[in-house]
Amino acid sequence: MASGKTESFRERKQRLRQSFIEQFPGRLAGARELLAGLTLGSDQRAELETLHLLFHTIKGSGASFGFDSINASAKAAEQVLREVLDQDARVTERLILDLDQRLRTLEALDLALDAAAGPDPGPSFEIPARQSVDGCTSGRLQRLVYLCDDDSVIAQELSGQLSCFGYQVIPFVTLDALRRAFQSERPSAIIMDVIFPEGQDAGPAVIAELNATIDRPVPCVFISSRNDFSARLQAVQSGGNAYCPKPVNAVEMAEILDQLTNRSPPEPYHILIVDDDPDVAQFFSMVLEEAGMVTRVTNEPERVPDTLDGFDADLVLMDLYMPKCSGPDLARVLRQMPGYLSLPIIYVSSETNAERQFKALEVGADGFLTKPLAPERLIAEVKLRAERMRTLRSLMIRDGLTGLFNHNAILQLLEVTEAACRRTQTSLCMAMIDVDHFKSINDTYGHPVGDQVLMALSRTLRLRLREVDLVGRYGGEEFAIILVGVDAAYAKSIIDELRADFAEVSFFADGFEFHCAFSGGIAAYPQFGTASALVDAADRALYRAKRNGRNRVEIATTMTDVSAKPVPPGGMRNEH
Ligand code: GH3
Ligand code: MG
Ligand code: MG
Repeated sequence: MASGKTESFRERKQRLRQSFIEQFPGRLAGARELLAGLTLGSDQRAELETLHLLFHTIKGSGASFGFDSINASAKAAEQVLREVLDQDARVTERLILDLDQRLRTLEALDLALDAAAGPDPGPSFEIPARQSVDGCTSGRLQRLVYLCDDDSVIAQELSGQLSCFGYQVIPFVTLDALRRAFQSERPSAIIMDVIFPEGQDAGPAVIAELNATIDRPVPCVFISSRNDFSARLQAVQSGGNAYCPKPVNAVEMAEILDQLTNRSPPEPYHILIVDDDPDVAQFFSMVLEEAGMVTRVTNEPERVPDTLDGFDADLVLMDLYMPKCSGPDLARVLRQMPGYLSLPIIYVSSETNAERQFKALEVGADGFLTKPLAPERLIAEVKLRAERMRTLRSLMIRDGLTGLFNHNAILQLLEVTEAACRRTQTSLCMAMIDVDHFKSINDTYGHPVGDQVLMALSRTLRLRLREVDLVGRYGGEEFAIILVGVDAAYAKSIIDELRADFAEVSFFADGFEFHCAFSGGIAAYPQFGTASALVDAADRALYRAKRNGRNRVEIATTMTDVSAKPVPPGGMRNEH
């Protein structure tokens, strides 16, 4: 890419838009020439295909840059040609007249003028220049993705967008360039256009060709302006895992890539084994560890609470009969301890008497496995219950829309983290962020689009922060972030960088592109010494950021901020 590293997304887009405007007359002249070469009654398939591709490209770029006038005519011409090509029809007078008419409309347009006066579908809020030198591709967890589209505008735009979601996307405009790159380095996934100069199905054909040379196919997402069944079928048959009609929504694409590239392998299950017979306990432990789980073993019931501490157990496997303390007694003790109320407990015993089994379960255990126990059965039962436990637990502490910690969970985590930082004398920052003018996004584009913005923001936060940082959805469009081991100034630089990146993410709705921003407030421990003081202070700093103009981050000082609500966003409403 020719783009300098410090070039902002907006500048890059402006440059691409300019280059499209410059190429436009040349493209039309090409179409004009092809049209003049058509002969009535002939079967000039190759020429018709080229013409189709030309209109197709003009349409795609026109839409990307908000030239609606181009879009309509090019789309109509493309459709007419598509029908003729699909039906293997010949060149008719009507076709020539129709194309001539469309072409004339396009030729009459003066894009340069349009560009000066017309709506630049650029950001609705002022976008600051890139702050980080290495751009928004600096996040951890980068995955290499190849993107191939003969429309260079789409290729570059989508790559830029996806890099904000933590992917390193390399755009290619020719199939040959993609082939060459594929030979030298295998990507985690490929995003592939369907129609290329080589043919209507050239994209899928090349994916099939590349996959034929390797053992395990590379995950592939097709993008296309074709949305017909046959295009989708072709895509599936050539190994496509997903299909996105254009214009491509970057948030959805990122979600699809996440699934396909399976970002984080599941954390192995943690199982505690309690059995007074060391050999039995060791045997279970061996079987489960063999199956990829992590185990801790204890032969004395009284050591169970200590052994559980810090282990983050998904399940306890417990012997029913033990001296001094039976399984049910131990279960009762655990149920009375705060953190273990819902910890799954399964007894393992040779007890086959149904009534005695029932009595043992009554105290709040979750299952009964009878010895002798085949290893496969032990693994299957433990896995099933541990998995269900994880799902339930995540439903309890996760926010449904964004998958982040919910309000209660993030507050609890703040208390736990603050206590830990107090013990270890570590610094800690609490950041509160709130989307600017979010109500107007809902009002302008509808609630589902607002939801998309929240999902995108939560993704940006999740991907760009470190593993140790905790992110929660504090309320509607407000998020809380706990940053461990950093001071206020450093926390501000992190949140500021996120803010700049997020402001560059483009959203599309109703054919318009818009951008969002957020404001943030930061409070640092030990300056604010308790969890609730941190929340209050961060909240006050956030409101100061709102009052001071939004799209900025403020640090809480010990002086009490005037905690009046921010002024309403007079006159800053989104114009689209
Ligand atoms: P400010 O810059 O001062 O923060 O203005 P604002 O418009 O963002 O703030 P305000 O609190 O006036 O509006 C927040 C809006 O967020 C109102 C509410 O309907 C909307 N909202 C809350 N939760 C959700 C949600 O889950 N999805 C969507 N789409 N909207 C939500
Ligand atoms: Mg808001
Ligand atoms: Mg709000």
